[in-house]
Amino acid sequence: MSSINTAYSQLPPAFFFTRLNDTVSAYADAHPDRRLLRLGVGDVKGPLAPVIIDALHRAVDEQAQAASFHGYLPEVGTAFFREAVARHYGRWSVDVSPEEVFASSGAADDLGAIGNLFSSWARVLVVEPAYPAYVDTNVMAGRQIVRLLGTRENGFLPLPTEELDGDIVYLCSPNNPTGAAYTRSQLQRWVDWANDRQAILIFDAAYEAFVQDGDVPRSIFELSGARTCAIEICSLSKTAGFTGMRLGYTLVPRDLVRAGLSLREMWVKDRTTRTNGVSYVLQRAGAAALSPEGMDQCRQAIRRYQQNGRILSETLTRAGRWFTGGRNAPYLWLPCPEGKSGWDFFRELLEKAQIVVTPGEGFGQGGEGYVRLSCFGTREDTEAAARGLLTVLR
Ligand code: PLP
Repeated sequence: MSSINTAYSQLPPAFFFTRLNDTVSAYADAHPDRRLLRLGVGDVKGPLAPVIIDALHRAVDEQAQAASFHGYLPEVGTAFFREAVARHYGRWSVDVSPEEVFASSGAADDLGAIGNLFSSWARVLVVEPAYPAYVDTNVMAGRQIVRLLGTRENGFLPLPTEELDGDIVYLCSPNNPTGAAYTRSQLQRWVDWANDRQAILIFDAAYEAFVQDGDVPRSIFELSGARTCAIEICSLSKTAGFTGMRLGYTLVPRDLVRAGLSLREMWVKDRTTRTNGVSYVLQRAGAAALSPEGMDQCRQAIRRYQQNGRILSETLTRAGRWFTGGRNAPYLWLPCPEGKSGWDFFRELLEKAQIVVTPGEGFGQGGEGYVRLSCFGTREDTEAAARGLLTVLR
């Protein structure tokens, strides 16, 4: 018996992104004359929209005067931010009350913290390949992981079956890394399955702003019955370019009750105990981003990323390649040429065309033999990468 949490030893070593960055840096050092086309990153390009910058300036000025200064704020989020989020959902007719909205320092923080609500024996079902935090945070908590694999056959959108087991299920749609997105009827099957079993869906909506197709929900709460089985975790990182700002929100509906306990009330207790909330200045910036004017401005950046998605999708189609994503998400997921691992194909693209992608192995089981292309590059780099991809793939 040890007094430390030995579950950490079960985590995969953190070498994946280190190895990736080291390989890219070594190549760049050896070929200073070659420009790298970076389609590996999941980070946005700045700048922030003007309406957000104005709100930041105004909030800082308020803090400069005793009369308008703000000290501690409600741990769960300010009324103005929670209302702004509730209105944001109202735009696609999802009825959320501000009391069900919780401000966070980003989706990653709440993906890590939400496990506080569950017991250590709860079985966690993860659809893989996946954003690594779903598995890793639960391994740290000593929970048993059950995997459901996305494959080419199911379009990387596996659906629940009668035999499938799990108390907590992580779903991410539109998905990182595969770019695939569940339709309304597919997601309804997950909601019905969860309600039948009293399972809880943790729905990661980090890429909701990229949805273009009418039959792809932006929120799990668009589905009937979701209020009794789901928690939604979302963020302004990709919606408004807040990756370096750190602001997100989590929705825990009042109707979510298990063992006679309201999960919303448990989350209030958890947040008021473990955090002192998010800064006033950031919440003002977030409310500005979610205003109609803010959303119009933020959509300009999203349209640029969507245009990159179109360029890459057309290229892969011209090359006769099957792939997922590129339309409702800023990622494309591509099988490697016959017999190549994600790492082999990553090296080939780097060496032959100076394109940086992410090997699928970094996203858990089912990622082997695939690479992820990101749409967050510049237009110029994306177009150059598209030409290079076509040459390599042909
Ligand atoms: N969820 C998914 C699926 C992501 O891809 C990311 C970041 O890339 C996050 C959550 C974390 O987002 P945040 O910046 O809000 O912590």
